[in-house]
Amino acid sequence: MQYWIGLGSNIGDGPAQITQALNHLESTGLVSVCRRSGCYRSAPWGVLDQPEFTNAVALLESDLGPLSLLDHLQRVEQAMGRRRDERRWGPRVIDLDLLLAGEQILRLKRLVLPHPQLHRRRFVLQPLAELEPDLRIPARGVVRHLLRRLPEQGVRLVSR
Ligand code: ATP
Ligand code: CA
Ligand code: CA
Repeated sequence: MQYWIGLGSNIGDGPAQITQALNHLESTGLVSVCRRSGCYRSAPWGVLDQPEFTNAVALLESDLGPLSLLDHLQRVEQAMGRRRDERRWGPRVIDLDLLLAGEQILRLKRLVLPHPQLHRRRFVLQPLAELEPDLRIPARGVVRHLLRRLPEQGVRLVSR
């Protein structure tokens, strides 16, 4: 099964932490990273009084089901020092979101697929477009079309 994930960080060295998270994910042998985007920098989203974010996306291959993969993502967040009590959208060492699982639509309390905000966020759509502009988001549309409709959000590529 192939999965797209989103990675974000705004404490410490963002690009290094994103690479470290991908290495962590692979280290157990449960997941392999097929492709990853460059790193994109942008102003914070939601909670505005905090450092800029670095974001990237990656395409994973795994035999895990979506909920088991979410468990795995959350274990890696914890291992990298993410705290449970922090406020939503607040500063974090690493944030790993499950973006897409092919055409699957899921509405569980713990897991909504596609990720509910994906189609509104340039910091997710721009790295997706770098790798796969024709990717279809179920019930939302094609990545490059969604991007055309969104206003500028100050997202820029900082490293490959
Ligand atoms: P956002 O989800 O808007 O990007 P966030 O990443 O800051 O915000 P978190 O605090 O990391 O939010 O996660 C809150 C909860 O969202 C998690 O406990 C998780 O169970 C749930 N969740 C629902 N759908 C998803 C998804 N597609 N990927 C990751 N977590 C999800
Ligand atoms: Ca997130
Ligand atoms: Ca998250």
